[in-house]
Order: sequence, then C-alpha cells, then structure tokens
Amino acid sequence: MNFIDLQAQYRAYQGEIDAAIAEVTASARFIGGPNIEALEERLATFVGVKHAVGVGSGTQALIIPLMAWGIGPGDEVITSPFTFIASAEVIALLGAKPVFVDIRADDFNLDVDQLEAAITPRTKAIMPVSLYGQCADMDAINAIARHHGIPVIEDACQSFGGLYKGRRSCGLAQAGATSFFPAKPLGAFGDGGMLFTDDATLAGKARMIKEHGQTARYQHGLLGLNGRLDALQAAVLRVKMDHFEDEIQARQKVAGVYQQGLTGIPGITLPMVHPDRMSVYAQFTIRVRERQAIQERLTAADIPTAVHYPAPLHRQPVFAHLGLAPGSFPVAEQAAGEVLSLPMHPFLDEADQQRIIAVIREAAD
Ligand SMILES: *Cc1c(COP(=O)(O)O)cnc(C)c1O
Repeated sequence: MNFIDLQAQYRAYQGEIDAAIAEVTASARFIGGPNIEALEERLATFVGVKHAVGVGSGTQALIIPLMAWGIGPGDEVITSPFTFIASAEVIALLGAKPVFVDIRADDFNLDVDQLEAAITPRTKAIMPVSLYGQCADMDAINAIARHHGIPVIEDACQSFGGLYKGRRSCGLAQAGATSFFPAKPLGAFGDGGMLFTDDATLAGKARMIKEHGQTARYQHGLLGLNGRLDALQAAVLRVKMDHFEDEIQARQKVAGVYQQGLTGIPGITLPMVHPDRMSVYAQFTIRVRERQAIQERLTAADIPTAVHYPAPLHRQPVFAHLGLAPGSFPVAEQAAGEVLSLPMHPFLDEADQQRIIAVIREAAD
C-alpha cells in the first residue's frame, strides 16, 4: 500500500502525459513557452484571480511576494508555528523575523482570536497556512490585516482546489502561493509552484523577480533569483489539471469512508472541516492520544503513515535564537505530539481503506 499512489495516477493518465512530454521534448522549448502561458491562464481562471505566475517551487511562490513587498531586516511577518518549515524559512531568509501565532485545536489553522495581539508596528505581512487542504479563516484574517494596512499571503501549498465560502484557495488574499511538489493535491513530476494575485503591480514584480530582477534583456532593476517553472512540469500539470476536479471528488469520497469507519473510537479525533469550507485533503490527519502504539500497529500491518509535523517550528533548532521556550504555543505543541496522517489519495480503494480502519479499531481496543 502507498501513502500517496503516484504510480496509479500515472497509469491512469499515461497516454496523455507521455504525449504532452514528447511534445515538449520535440519542441526543445524547456524554459518558458506555450505550456507555461496556458497553465498560468488556466489556473488563474480556476482560482478566480487576474494573475498567475509560474515559479520553481512553493517555497519560491512564498518568498517572491515577500521580496516584492520589500520585506527585510527589522520587519516581522506573522505565520503559524504548525506547518512545513518553508512558511517561516522564507521570512527568515529575507532577514525578517517570523512571529508565530498559535493554532486552533480543531482545524490546526491560525487562531484568529490571538492574531491582533501579535501585531506590532514592525509587522509587514501575515501568512496564514491552509493546513492539510482546508483554508484558514481568511475573511477574519483579511479584516484584521486591512485594519492595520498590511498585506496577507495565503500559504496554500496544501490547499490548491480547496473552497472557502464558495471561493477557491489561493484567491482569498493579496497573494496566494501553492506548490506542485509531486505529493501535493496537484503535483508535477518534480518541483514547481505558482503565485496568484489580483494585484497587477505584485504580479509584474514577481515576473521580474523570478527572472533575476530582469526588466529588459540583461537589464536588472531589482534583486531576483532563478525562480521559473519549467515547460515539462507545466505540460504534465496541464494534463493532471484535466482530471483535477474528479480527483477532488474522489478525495471527498475517501475522506467520507474514513470519517464513517473511524467514528466513535475513544482516544481518536477525526478531522473537522468547517461547514463553509471544502478541504482537498492534502492529508487525512487524525489526532491520536496513544500515537506511537497505533502507528506501530499500522506499520506492522504494512500500512504507511506520516506525522505532519513532529515538532512545531518554534522548537526547531534553526529557530532556537528566537528564544521561544516549550509552552510558548501549547496548542501547536500538543498537536505535534498527537497528529497522524493516514494514506490519502484519489486512487485509494475501499478494500484498502477498510483494512486500515480495521487495524486502527483493533489497535485502539
Ligand atoms: C510543501 C509546502 C511548502 C513548500 O513547497 P515546495 O514546493 O516544497 O517548496 C510550503 N508550505 C507548506 C505548508 C507546504 O506544505
């Protein structure tokens, strides 16, 4: 059994994917070109924003807007302590300070009630993370940010395709950043990412930054980097996008089977999705009081699991200098000790799911 079955997905679309790759190979246009433009247009329409800028990874989709906003030393950016390292890493890479706000216990996303208290005159942006595929409470976050005149960037690296009050993730703030890392809901055959915005100035700057700050050929107006999405990835993503909405539906079905099969087990809390949202279930993550025991039983039954994430970011050695002791963010810390992600992908069959459910039920007895 696979945690995420990318081979099954490839087999399902193999003819289309191989043809798309062969076309790029024959054209020898590996950087830029029609596949990038077509993908950007397609995803901008899907998300419902004016501009989509293809970049080399989700990490680049996060750092480029911060660069465009001129964030640097002396500035603070607020984010979640319970996320992948990249969210806070990009802030620190620019010399700014990541300021953490604890998460909610039910949806693992930023606790909006604690947000206002973390804002200082040095706060230059807020970066909520839409964890496991469910959007953070973006309207409430936007309202607070607007009041302070600071921009919001949604770290939507796990939530591309998710819905918040009928609107798509990535299109809910000044900037939305997603990742096409192979295991993400919309995954490439390597690294890739995309930045979404309605702001023409931000989009224009992002296009320059991802090309080494180039304003015209070999003219460099600002500091940038090599941040491009490549054409082979764009070609693969265009094929996968043809099937993406069906895959989202398949993910809902898989989640439904888990929800039904795992309900009412003492010591296990199932994922909660707010009624105004739809999760794309980048992960199906349960909370388990006796995590180690359950995880060992699953491993013994050849069922792969993962912990997203075993340590909150303020407890990572790289951020030790922030001086945030254990207990600084108790909800994130407790979550790090209890979360367990189960196999989740659109091709997971029900027999495998029933086996996973049975092993968990037995182990929890
Ligand atoms: C995957 C991920 C990223 C980074 O994306 P890459 O494409 O791997 O650079 C950032 N934030 C979150 C929450 C992620 O899950």
